[in-house]
Amino acid sequence: MSEYAMSIDGKPVRAGAADSFAVINPATEEVFAQAPACTSQQLTAALEAAQHAFRSWRQDEDARRKVLLAASERLAEKAPDIARILTQEQGKPLAQATGELQSAVAQLKATAAMPFPHQVTQDDTRGKIEITYRPYGVVAAITPWNFPILIAMSKLAPALLAGNSVVLKPSPYTPLATLALGEVLNTVLPPGVLNVVSGGNDLGAQLTSHPLVRKISFTGSIATGKRVAEVAARDLKRVTLELGGNDPAIVLPDADVESIAARLYWSAFFNCGQICLAVKRIYVAEALFEPLTAALMKLAQSTVVGDGLDPKTQVGPLNNLMQLERVTSLADDAKRRGARVHAGGERLGRKGYFYPPTVLTDVTDDMPIVAEEQFGPVLPVLPYRDVEDAVERANATHFGLGASVWGRDLERATQIAKQLDSGTVWVNQHVALTAKAPFSGAKQSGVGRASGRWALESFLQEHVINVSRG
Ligand code: NAD
Repeated sequence: MSEYAMSIDGKPVRAGAADSFAVINPATEEVFAQAPACTSQQLTAALEAAQHAFRSWRQDEDARRKVLLAASERLAEKAPDIARILTQEQGKPLAQATGELQSAVAQLKATAAMPFPHQVTQDDTRGKIEITYRPYGVVAAITPWNFPILIAMSKLAPALLAGNSVVLKPSPYTPLATLALGEVLNTVLPPGVLNVVSGGNDLGAQLTSHPLVRKISFTGSIATGKRVAEVAARDLKRVTLELGGNDPAIVLPDADVESIAARLYWSAFFNCGQICLAVKRIYVAEALFEPLTAALMKLAQSTVVGDGLDPKTQVGPLNNLMQLERVTSLADDAKRRGARVHAGGERLGRKGYFYPPTVLTDVTDDMPIVAEEQFGPVLPVLPYRDVEDAVERANATHFGLGASVWGRDLERATQIAKQLDSGTVWVNQHVALTAKAPFSGAKQSGVGRASGRWALESFLQEHVINVSRG
């Protein structure tokens, strides 16, 4: 019997042993809990509850703001308990799991106060044109395993403020903190407004293809994102897709290696490199190649890798065996082709999906470790002679999520930033998300926009009233 419950129509729904699946702690490789495996009937019940709840939830914007604020307070109280569950199922250090919960609380609170868009584009003797914005209806929200709570909240908060109801499905690798989140929020939200269901990838496919869903907000890999888009196209459901990245960082000849090395390093290795927006390849000016590699190597060698529940741990394990095997095989392939390993380079010889921070040089752009998204703690460093060449190599990919340029001359760095084909380009930083800017992937890294008011708008459709006064 699972002690974790799905939330369907405001009620906790637990599973018996036959309808549950195991969740593994990646630091120990042991099953530490069971999650309910949602049945087709339960999924339909969740969607019907959402459809029913939508009718009244959409009516009163002020009431929604009050409820979301109250929900943020309730979540703040329960945050320490959920953070611990998050560390156990995801692997990240407890302090970072706590930070993730705190960010989710802050996001819910800030969203509760966010103004609604509203425009009057004509108001004269001929007539009045007023554009208001309304919710879609039932939203399917699907999340990956790297930031289960933060990514769930980046969908829930704006979707609910907009007046939609939601059925949320977390990754089967990390369902538990999200189930706990659903139970906490359901102590405040009206029944059916937020439903949380857990299960495998097939549950995601059932959810996205269900006719009651009007909008899909998906975060995950490009391969799955394409499947979601295909299914959505069948009945023209609206979609927001936040997909994978292979972010380049370009280090210009005037960069101060000593001052940027740690920032650059943690932009690649935070959360064990499992961030869509992590630095995944570095192009560095030839003159700085050796000092930068040495600085990154030193940082990698001194990073404490371990169980996230140990307060000394800076980097936890990879989340799951499949990802560990992928990262190991990318690194091994690079080594076979002549890459030089400066730190790490082998799975740690102990229980747990541990792979240490690894810095690779003598790699080429066509090696999969550079060309593909590694989504793990292995960072290739490549020298360049002309910055135009670095820009071309950085852009030569179907990914377009983020990128960064590092240098002392901010004007020059900004000029280079303008030439990079990604949704966001940072200068002297990376992975710096803010509600003051839209977050969107260029090329195959995504469809639609998230973050701040852009996230709210993504859960609203225009409604135009055009009055003739003639
Ligand atoms: P994934 O695509 O394997 O799974 C993501 C979610 O989709 C899971 O909940 C999964 O169960 C579900 N799913 C699987 N098949 C489905 C289907 N056919 N229909 C509907 N849902 C389905 O991704 P992952 O391995 O969990 O996450 C890692 C990937 O996510 C990386 O590529 C990473 O870059 C990306 N990511 C992107 C962002 C972003 O904001 N751009 C943020 C985090 C992660």
